[in-house]
Amino acid sequence: MSETECVFCGIVGGEIEAEVVHDEDEVLAFNDMNGRAPVHVLVIPKRHVANLEAIDALPDAVAKRLFAVASAVAEKLGVTEGGYAVRVNNGPDAGQEVFHLHLHVMGGQRLGMP
Ligand code: AMP
Ligand code: ZN
Repeated sequence: MSETECVFCGIVGGEIEAEVVHDEDEVLAFNDMNGRAPVHVLVIPKRHVANLEAIDALPDAVAKRLFAVASAVAEKLGVTEGGYAVRVNNGPDAGQEVFHLHLHVMGGQRLGMP
């Protein structure tokens, strides 16, 4: 999928609405539209990167910020103490649906695998 057709690029560009919970230079976090836990936020790089195989396209500092923002979002939404899962679905067997790299930050209930 090209960047022009990418739903998350659309959110970054403001053409598609989302409930933003954190916005900074290179990283955006917003509520998953189909939340499967009391807290279910997606953390994305603003630059289009399809998956982990393409992560070298991101500056190292931005890759680090993805995790720092996941932690900041967890703190903001009150799940740091209870704990939370940070998950990447990478590729078909993992059920990746949106080919713009994103971290799922999920908490507020007991979470199992997968
Ligand atoms: P996955 O690619 O499997 O990691 O999952 C993509 C996630 O993006 C799913 O949990 C969807 O509910 C979510 N999603 C897809 N489109 C949107 C959107 N426009 N706004 C918020 N979340 C979305
Ligand atoms: Zn994109």
